Amino acid sequence: MSYSGSCLCSKIKFEVSDIHPQIGHCHCTMCRKFHGAAFSTFAEIKLNNLTWIKGEGLLSSFTAENDTVRSFCRTCGSSLLFESKYNRENSTIEIALASFDTPIELSPDAHIFIQNKVSWLTLNDELEKFDTYRK
Ligand SMILES: [Zn+2]
Ligand SMILES: [Zn+2]
Repeated sequence: MSYSGSCLCSKIKFEVSDIHPQIGHCHCTMCRKFHGAAFSTFAEIKLNNLTWIKGEGLLSSFTAENDTVRSFCRTCGSSLLFESKYNRENSTIEIALASFDTPIELSPDAHIFIQNKVSWLTLNDELEKFDTYRK
């Protein structure tokens, strides 16, 4: 199964196979600011299951104080990638699930960093919730 995704201006396009089934909605302050949204939803992928169709050179990144790296399209600002020390050690990367153009049959299974959740978002789902990282 292969999935394709792109940024808002379509100058960046990629294809992935084999998305890791554990997908969390992250409410941490950095993900919120990066997305300009209440939370982020990133899916983990092995680096060798990721193919850039075009535009990889248009990615810009921001490295936060905790050494996490978030990458976005320099032209349209779409937030696309997340990478932590854990990802680097395991040769994986996380891709914003909302950037996929093909249907995804997987569903997120948890909320993480609930301690930073905005007050104006009400969670009505049954997904598992973690104060910080998934345990
Ligand atoms: Zn773009
Ligand atoms: Zn986060």
